[in-house]
Amino acid sequence: MSELIIGVDLGGTNVRTAAVSRDKKILGKDSRPTHAEGGPATVMACMVESIDAVLKAAGATRADVLAAGIGAPGPMNWQTGVVYSPPNLPGWKNVPLADEMKKRLGFPCFVDNDANVACYGEYWLGAGQGAENLCLLTLGTGVGGGIVVFGQLLRGIDGTAAEIGHLKVMRGGRRCGCGATGCLEAYGSVTGMVRTALEGIESGRKTLLTELCGGDLQRIDGKMISEGIERADEFCRWVMHETAVWLGIGISSLINLLNPEKVILCGGMIGAGDVLFEPIRKTAKELSFEVPGNRAQIIPAGLAGDSGVIGAAGCALARYQEAHGSGSKP
Ligand SMILES: [Zn+2]
Repeated sequence: MSELIIGVDLGGTNVRTAAVSRDKKILGKDSRPTHAEGGPATVMACMVESIDAVLKAAGATRADVLAAGIGAPGPMNWQTGVVYSPPNLPGWKNVPLADEMKKRLGFPCFVDNDANVACYGEYWLGAGQGAENLCLLTLGTGVGGGIVVFGQLLRGIDGTAAEIGHLKVMRGGRRCGCGATGCLEAYGSVTGMVRTALEGIESGRKTLLTELCGGDLQRIDGKMISEGIERADEFCRWVMHETAVWLGIGISSLINLLNPEKVILCGGMIGAGDVLFEPIRKTAKELSFEVPGNRAQIIPAGLAGDSGVIGAAGCALARYQEAHGSGSKP
């Protein structure tokens, strides 16, 4: 049996796990509820169970594993593997996740920021294959970001780099979850898109959304806006278009700053297809320099929901090899 790498995507709702061979073949997958309400010990037990399940599916044992990578929500220290206090993991405070998991599993464990590993996953095995310079934006409740430069994650001196969601796209503007104002995330996330919808409705625009939410505007979510678009609601199309233009503004700065080959978007919102991508591409091209603007392909992720779990494995392999030179087990 060749040596395996385990990837884990630790989310607030689900733990997803995959076993990947060194030649990038996915040998087993597992997904189960995180039980985040149980705190760190429960969540770690859940990850161990998921890893054992995936090994069983791959016909392997823990002895076959070279290393595991865990993509976790930040803030964290990727070098020590300590996770500080992620908003969606209640009870977590300075948890030495890498050490604790190594103790439970008996093989090296590496922890990385979830959006960074998703970016690495697309670089390693997804829509970014063949490119050495790329960016990824995860469009969900927030806007996560990852940047690969010449095949390496761009981390910055403290490991806090690539917070694409907190690029400032205007002076003042909406208050962001991070406390600052005018961040891309406040406009280009699903949450930002819903805010755009609510502001439009409050200003008197007519839309199917008021019917879809049963009169309770607080119930409006991304799915309802997608449904509105499918049912040819002009206002919903406008809301998605606005969201896309904000994203295009942020992406134009990335293009000028980094000259990437690819800018990859993932998250549920990308299901909107051309309604989302066309205005993003148009805006990003208009606002960026000609050469990098023509170069950058703005495309959907290739691994669907698996970017994180596969990227966590890819990152773990890269970090293991960096630490051990040859990459063979000591
Ligand atoms: Zn922010």
